[in-house]
Amino acid sequence: EAKSQGRNTYQSFKKEMNHAAAQKLALENHLRAALVNDEFTINYQLQYDNKNNCYKGLEALIRWKNPILGNVSPAEFIPVAEDIGLIVDIERWVFNKACLQRRIWLEQGVACGKLSVNVSAKHFSKNLFQSITDALSISGLPAKYLEIEITESCFITRFDFVSDVMKQLTDIGITISLDDFGTGYSSLSYLSQLPINAIKIDASFVANIPGKERDCRLVTGIISMAQSLGLDIVAEGVEDIEQEQFLKDNGCHVIQGYLYSKPCRDICTQLAR
Ligand code: C2E
Ligand code: MG
Ligand code: MG
Ligand code: MG
Repeated sequence: EAKSQGRNTYQSFKKEMNHAAAQKLALENHLRAALVNDEFTINYQLQYDNKNNCYKGLEALIRWKNPILGNVSPAEFIPVAEDIGLIVDIERWVFNKACLQRRIWLEQGVACGKLSVNVSAKHFSKNLFQSITDALSISGLPAKYLEIEITESCFITRFDFVSDVMKQLTDIGITISLDDFGTGYSSLSYLSQLPINAIKIDASFVANIPGKERDCRLVTGIISMAQSLGLDIVAEGVEDIEQEQFLKDNGCHVIQGYLYSKPCRDICTQLAR
């Protein structure tokens, strides 16, 4: 009895594993075809500067809608794209498309600040500089309108190489911000060694202010550290005015989150409010 039950459990476990593996394979295959089938779009989310009452920038966020899988979140498919070597092609597409859109808004006089694009650590060793300069020249967007968002995972390997690429990029006028700050594992020493312009406080900290004492202390600590290093600071995931007020009171004036702006295809409707 016990034995057969054990076997049943194992069989159903195996079935589930096969199911998960099959699902992953399906996702991979659909992802491989997504670029040619034109299934990606970009949403933009504004970052508001509540001190100077203007938009400081906007972040490009990729969206994928597959006819069979439906909408798949980038949190789910970006890691898969990194694993199967598709990330560079996808990010090149994002750079081209977003720079072109920003250039159009520039011509129309839309005051939305800098375009910010997320970059995978994997792209650094695959000629990131070329991907970016190609997108700038194709779109005609001046480099000063472009920012890239990287995460601490970039610094785990090949520090000198990554640092050289960052310097090349900042030399032509691109700025670099550090995304999801506080969630990575690397040391803080890179902050003074690398050409980083701004840090983005991760939404997981913002979610718990002003309610949780410990997160409040972490957030105020991050802000004062950024200030003393001369770095700009942006808070992610700001959803309500209590969070905004706390950030404002503690010196963080640039806000990204549903409170001011939901990611959308055309930011002009939001700017018109
Ligand atoms: P991220 O770069 O940290 O982007 C911020 C995420 O927070 C976005 O999720 C955004 O939609 C979401 N968000 C913004 N405001 C709020 C808020 O007030 N509340 C809540 N709950 N969420 C908010 P999204 O668009 O699902 O993207 C998830 C992650 O996928 C991004 O995190 C980024 O790491 C990655 N990603 C998105 N687009 C790209 C891309 O083009 N290239 C790469 N490499 N990664 C990308
Ligand atoms: Mg980001
Ligand atoms: Mg983030
Ligand atoms: Mg993230």
